[in-house]
Amino acid sequence: MCGIVCYVGREKAKPILMEGLKHLEYRGYDSAGLAIQNKKHIDYYRAVGKIIELERKTNDLDIPGTSGIAHTRWATHGEPTEKNAHPHRDEKDNIYVIHNGIIENFHHLKKKLEKSGVQFRSETDTEVLAHLIAQNFDGDLNEAVRKTMSQLEGTFGLAVINRKTPGEIVVARRGSPLIIGVGEGENFAASDVAAMVRYTNKVVHLNDNELALLTKDGVSISTAQAKAIQRPTETVEWQPEDAELNGFPHFMLKEIFEQPETILNATRGRLEPGEGVPKLGGIIPVWDRLKECRHMVIVACGTSYYAGHVGRYIFEKLTEVDVEVELASEFRYQKLNFPPNTFIIAMSQSGETADTLAAIREASRKGANLIGIVNVVGSSISRETEAGIYNHAGPEIGVASTKIFISQLTILTLLALLLGRHQNLSLTDGVEAIKALTALPDQVKKVLSQDNHIQAIAEKYYKYNNWLYLGRKYGYPIAMEGALKLKEVSYIHAEGYAAGEMKHGPIALINPEMPTVAIVPKDSMHEKMINNIHEILSRKGPVIAIATEGDDKIKDMVEDVIEIPETLDYLNPILSVVPCQLLAYHCARFLNRDIDQPRNLAKSVTVE
Ligand code: GLU
Repeated sequence: MCGIVCYVGREKAKPILMEGLKHLEYRGYDSAGLAIQNKKHIDYYRAVGKIIELERKTNDLDIPGTSGIAHTRWATHGEPTEKNAHPHRDEKDNIYVIHNGIIENFHHLKKKLEKSGVQFRSETDTEVLAHLIAQNFDGDLNEAVRKTMSQLEGTFGLAVINRKTPGEIVVARRGSPLIIGVGEGENFAASDVAAMVRYTNKVVHLNDNELALLTKDGVSISTAQAKAIQRPTETVEWQPEDAELNGFPHFMLKEIFEQPETILNATRGRLEPGEGVPKLGGIIPVWDRLKECRHMVIVACGTSYYAGHVGRYIFEKLTEVDVEVELASEFRYQKLNFPPNTFIIAMSQSGETADTLAAIREASRKGANLIGIVNVVGSSISRETEAGIYNHAGPEIGVASTKIFISQLTILTLLALLLGRHQNLSLTDGVEAIKALTALPDQVKKVLSQDNHIQAIAEKYYKYNNWLYLGRKYGYPIAMEGALKLKEVSYIHAEGYAAGEMKHGPIALINPEMPTVAIVPKDSMHEKMINNIHEILSRKGPVIAIATEGDDKIKDMVEDVIEIPETLDYLNPILSVVPCQLLAYHCARFLNRDIDQPRNLAKSVTVE
């Protein structure tokens, strides 16, 4: 979680760090701080709340230093107060450190430090880092950090400056992302390229248990065991405008409206209409094993987990592969016993989700093959999996995921189609699938054109405190994802249910105060869903139906209908999720919620 940004160069550091923090705010936003060094002097500011609070404090100050570190926090240890905000300092105010992650043995380290007389100023786990680095400093900051790393358990991305070593920043990582941005006469480091992309598109990824010394003239990377590392820079494909609102009031809305493009980006160069077989270059390294695979486990968290659920149905439809879907946070604690040639598909927007990373490491130990589906190029999951498929969706800044869900569904369809075509799926079915995929961007546009209508429905219902979302088969994960979206951004309580389960409990809740969103496209489950809707209406429950265009049966029954164009049954989720996203967005807007940064949430969950 949290955002780290560092700069060392010839320019004044403050505006660069503040600008970087704003682009990282989605990673954590309960407090923020920075430390800027000018020779042996360090200016240091912290503020509770969003970046704007730190900006208010520092706006009128002319801070001359040209190197510095800045942080936006998502508290794990200690409340979000000013004294717990980063940077943290040693007792002599020499060492300033910012940290992302959790120092799991901090309690033990703190006790030891306190015994030796150190007085702590915060309740965070992070503060031990400042004291340890100070104790280990013997003229060489890089060595002090290296020594400290050997004392730490847990996860960290960290950055340190020292009053005694002006012009130097040391960064290190284990388990939390840290990327170095290479400029001319200046260098950067951040937990996300979004913070640096304005200044450089040349980056170097730090691996776990590595550290780097940054000066304005160079970057030297080494391992925790002091082995020097030469790693070429990579070029980032994101453009600075990708991380801007471009006239939209919120990133969530911008990203919902980007979805036709998201599908195009996920399929670009990957569709072969003639043969009905997609091309996925990233899985070539494992293709010999993959085409024989009969057992797969999709491992993910949150919205990606629901995308995995849809994926399971798609694989069932198109391939001979048995697919399980597991929550990463549970999967790693299970007794893992895979049939031979099992493939794990790890899905994560950031590619840094701590639970998903831990799950693939465990699965790999047990002999499974690993494929990653991630958006962030060069992220940990992409590096720790043998093969993978990138979303190529550009940055997703809204904390509630929207376009990545659609991208994941598109990519899972491509993968299933590729496998299916090497198994039993016919040429006709393959060609039909590619045709339907090609039509999707325009069909999503058609759903988006109903935005005003969806907004009017949201206006009618946003004051209701409890909602139910129902779907069957392909619609069931969409019911769960729709409910999750509503919870995340509007804080309205919502439950996503398999419609068949309604009579086993949730029907007891139905009354005129509880709207139900029914995912009811024309597919094999249509009739059964209609029965469920009747049951709700006869108990005076309001219903909002997401139905296929021209479905008069539904229109005769239900007052509030949102139409989606007709497509193949297994592609319906890509269309039916869009009204759910817009409903959640508009309810949140009517309720004046902080849509892009909902309370308590953070974008990439890099702590377990
Ligand atoms: N564990 C640290 C804290 O609570 C860092 C949290 C973060 O990653 O923002 O301060």
